Amino acid sequence: MANLILLGPPGAGKGTQAKRIEEKFGLTQLSTGDMLRVEVASGSDLGKQAKSIMESGGLVSDDIIIGMISGRIDQDDCKAGFILDGFPRTVPQAEALDGMLADKSISMDFVIELTVDDEAMIERICGRYTCAKCGAGYHDKFQTPEKEGVCDKCGGTEFSRRADDNEETVRSRLKAYHEQTAPIAAYYGNRGVLKGVDGMADIDAVTAQLVEIIG
Ligand code: ADP
Ligand code: ADP
Ligand code: ZN
Repeated sequence: MANLILLGPPGAGKGTQAKRIEEKFGLTQLSTGDMLRVEVASGSDLGKQAKSIMESGGLVSDDIIIGMISGRIDQDDCKAGFILDGFPRTVPQAEALDGMLADKSISMDFVIELTVDDEAMIERICGRYTCAKCGAGYHDKFQTPEKEGVCDKCGGTEFSRRADDNEETVRSRLKAYHEQTAPIAAYYGNRGVLKGVDGMADIDAVTAQLVEIIG
């Protein structure tokens, strides 16, 4: 049982590692990006508001995000522990999270930052794709399926790429990260709860570092 936050820019490996940690420790991955993409696909009011912001690489408003995550943490599958992936992304979101956790008497056990080089993130994001059936993540160069064109996890043969995973949007997303999200590291660092992990190592080595921390 552990609750943790994975911090890091787009492409740092948050989603990839969250899925591995989820399986290994029986935790639940809460990805605000995935939740937003579900809303966009469903055409809900929230999805309509979020769509153009996501396509331009900006951040969706704190109010929308905070409301979305607060309800989600209350669900049963989070009782055994959860991994926040992509949230908090602004200092106001981090402050709101603190208030939310205090109200719900939930503690945050680990805040882990995947440290990476920006330029490498462009290549990671532009080569990213997922299985359309089960959502397993892949990369053109760094994480290919064992059998070409067939998902290792479910045998699916259809894959998809995100509309915002192109070089231009990634540059805006990295800019938003440095301006609005990076200050969160100091927010947690000042409290002595922040741990750094070398996100430039290969995928298995990053997982090993995380397992060591979470134990
Ligand atoms: P994030 O959720 O932080 O945006 P992802 O986990 O989706 O990042 O990873 C981005 C892309 O980079 C994916 O295609 C993934 O397969 C690949 N990737 C993830 N971690 C590594 C790593 N340590 N080394 C090389 N490629 C990686
Ligand atoms: P990545 O980790 O590759 O940057 P995500 O899937 O986490 O991508 O997020 C995709 C997009 O969804 C972001 O560029 C942003 O527009 C929106 N988004 C996701 N999480 C948040 C959040 N916590 N606050 C504001 N916007 C968010
Ligand atoms: Zn699959």
